[in-house]
This record gives sequence, structure tokens and C-alpha cells, in this order.
Amino acid sequence: LEAQVRQNEKLAAIGQLAAGIAHEIRNPLAGISGSIQLLSQDFSDPTEQKLMNIILKEIDRLNVLITEFLDYAKPEKVPDAEISLTQVVEDVVLNVKKRPDIPQGFEWVVEIQEVSILGFSEKLKQAVLNIVINAVQAVKADNPQRIEIRLKRDGSDAVLSIRDHGVGMTEETKKKMFEPFHTTKVKGTGLGLAVTHKILELHKARIEIETELNKGTEFIIKIPIAKGR
Ligand code: ADP
Repeated sequence: LEAQVRQNEKLAAIGQLAAGIAHEIRNPLAGISGSIQLLSQDFSDPTEQKLMNIILKEIDRLNVLITEFLDYAKPEKVPDAEISLTQVVEDVVLNVKKRPDIPQGFEWVVEIQEVSILGFSEKLKQAVLNIVINAVQAVKADNPQRIEIRLKRDGSDAVLSIRDHGVGMTEETKKKMFEPFHTTKVKGTGLGLAVTHKILELHKARIEIETELNKGTEFIIKIPIAKGR
């Protein structure tokens, strides 16, 4: 037990250090990005423009990585405000449909009931968004282009299901998907689901995964409902 406590303290210290470093990295990145944008106004050569765009894109990628890492390393609080999980899910669906990196032409099946829980809206939005983006990215050209999102109340739980008909997961990915930096994507960070897991844990959620190769994946998330409802 003592070893466990020491281990936890060590991890917390590393987390704090990492969060500090991440903050420090963001400022110079903003400086680099701003300067590049100014400089690139003077370039008329398409090759130079292209190179500048690559630099800007890669800076964006570093920013995403740092943001996700910070979310992961941040200290936890216990949620005590009542929020509408329905609103959270609706916001995510609206957001995801508008994103330029999400292909058009998806069929969205959205069946959601009104459910409130104790929680953090913004964190939950991030958690759900990560799952929905993964769902979209798992769908290849010859898969059914349909994402199904359902939310209902079941006894003392809010039950959220996000289902795709994409590539599914191997046993190994199923085992490791919540680990930071585990990714099967060329441009993945492997942090999305680690962050999601952390946020859901904070809300005392239970996560079930149904997945089959080339059939698709369903995330079922059960969150205890606000007391007295
Ligand atoms: P990233 O998306 O950057 O790879 P994540 O932590 O969000 O990182 O996901 C980790 C891995 O889990 C993904 O690379 C992918 O292999 C797998 N995964 C997550 N969601 C799905 C899904 N809906 N269908 C198939 N694989 C998935």
C-alpha cells in the first residue's frame, strides 16, 4: 500500500511538472505561428507558401497535442453542479457536423431524452466529442456511413450510446485504447480516449465497448444521475 501511495505521489508530481512544461511550450509556439503568418504574406512563390502552410499545420498539431495532454494531466475535482447531459450531447452533434475535418454525407441517427447529471459540461463535451470523432474516423468508404447516438435514462443511470459501423477494433486496440499515446492512426495523438477516460472516471461513469472487426463499434457510457431526480 505504501508503495502504491508513493507511486501515486510520484505520478502527481510528474503530472504537475508536465503541465507546467506544456504551458511553457505554448507561448513560443504562438510566437512562431504569428511570425510565420506575417512572413508568409510576402511570399508569392507557391512552393514557399506550401512550406509555410506545412509549418502552420504542424504548429496546430503541437497545440492539439499539448491541449490534450494538459487535459490529461490536470488535477481532479468532484463535480457538484447539475447539468443537462442532453444539452452536452446536442452541442457535440452540432459541433461535429460543422467541423471542416468531418466528411459530409454522414447519416446521423440521434435519439436523445432529457437527462440531468452532476457534472462538468465542458469536460463532458470534450469526452463525448473525442468518441464521436473516433467513430467518424473509423468509417471507411465501403462501410455504412451512419453514426447512431442515443441517450436515455435507465433507472439511476444516464445511458449514452455512440455507435459506428466502421472498421472495429482488434483485441490489442480494445485493451490499449485508453492508454495515453496508443494510436493506430498515422496522424493520431493517442490522447483522445485517454482524456475521455479520465473525464468519465471523474463522473463515476462505467464504460462498455462492443466492437467487431469490419462491423463497427459501440461505446456505452453509464453515468449515475443527479441525486433527487
Ligand atoms: P487517436 O484518435 O489519436 O488515435 P484515441 O485515444 O482517440 O487516439 O484512440 C486510440 C485508438 O483507439 C485509435 O487509434 C483507434 O485505433 C481506436 N479507436 C477508438 N475509437 C474507435 C472506433 N470507434 N472504431 C475503431 N477504432 C477506434
